[in-house]
Amino acid sequence: MKVPFIDFREQYYVVRDQIDAGLKKVFEDGTFILGPQERDFEQAFARYCEAPYAVGVNSGTDALYLALVALNVGPGDEVILPSFTFIATALCVSYTGAKPVFVDIEERTYNIDPDKFAAAITPRTKVIIPVHIYGQPADINQITELAKRHKIAVVEDACQAHGATYQGRKTGSLGDIACFSFYPTKSLGGCGDGGMIVTNNKEIYEKILMLRDYGRQGRYDHKIKGYNSRLDTVQAVVLAAKLPHLDQWNRMRNDVAVQYGQLLKNIDSIITPFLEKDRTHVFQTYAVRVPNRDKVCGQMKNRGVDVLIHYPIALHLQEAYADLGYKRGDCPVSEAVADDILSLPIFPHMKKEQIDYVCAALRELVENKQRVGLRAIDT
Ligand SMILES: *Cc1c(COP(=O)(O)O)cnc(C)c1O
Repeated sequence: MKVPFIDFREQYYVVRDQIDAGLKKVFEDGTFILGPQERDFEQAFARYCEAPYAVGVNSGTDALYLALVALNVGPGDEVILPSFTFIATALCVSYTGAKPVFVDIEERTYNIDPDKFAAAITPRTKVIIPVHIYGQPADINQITELAKRHKIAVVEDACQAHGATYQGRKTGSLGDIACFSFYPTKSLGGCGDGGMIVTNNKEIYEKILMLRDYGRQGRYDHKIKGYNSRLDTVQAVVLAAKLPHLDQWNRMRNDVAVQYGQLLKNIDSIITPFLEKDRTHVFQTYAVRVPNRDKVCGQMKNRGVDVLIHYPIALHLQEAYADLGYKRGDCPVSEAVADDILSLPIFPHMKKEQIDYVCAALRELVENKQRVGLRAIDT
């Protein structure tokens, strides 16, 4: 059997007619940039996040970058973020000239560790970016409490967590600003790049409206030096068609995760995701920790199961950040997780036979390893 990492065809069929009709209208009207459908989608997404304001931008990376620009982050400032995330979370900081400060994660959720955040605060700290890794919200209460006390802004990196909740509150409304990605493989994905900035703050909202559109108000009046970073109307049409189904699709992902959990729970050497009781996890990614990860990864592929690694190298050890002078041992939990984490296929319409096949293959590989004992150690 072949099991793809993701297969979104079934989702596409659900919304195909609506997308076809919507795209036809965009082409006929010629409203490709900031058309009315884009504004409608912003409002629908803001409502979905239970926040008053949302601004569509080019990508999740741009959302993070413009959020930092809106907060006047620049050279001399420090921005705290987890060392275990996608590199875009750090790149957006570097673009501003500020310094990324990498902080280790919690062993259980793989989210930033609030105690280590506290220890990393300096008078230069301007922003913290908690990432809701894999789709489970970070410990926002502790983070915002600390941030308030030290006058640090909180920018949620919610690029993997559309629709997840923390104590009943939606991601996107948990910090000062939240950033989403609509990259095609995200749980709400377009047919190209796209992103969204969500905020409760009217002033920030109005600034970001200018920042994404050459810094202008009206057509010719440029108030600030802005950028060109807008969500295409075509993307907005696709995303608006999918948004009403997102909660259902998140529930279906959750069902897949439950089945994985049941099938894998008796294998001692596999660590399945830990779920905090006061949050919902939307399982953008279903990641397990396995012994001999690189070997298991290759063998799963040999058996037709598409697996991936999110992420094999913690950010503080990436070559791109060698200039910051971090070394192995600085963020030990991130390093250990990077060494043995493995992402299994997950998508809403995944079939039971596919889930069974993935788990049987994984069980066999991991249990074989234990039987050969010593031989497994030399890998
Ligand atoms: C995908 C992702 C981003 C970047 O989003 P793009 O739309 O690809 O630019 C940033 N942070 C995290 C955690 C992501 O998963």
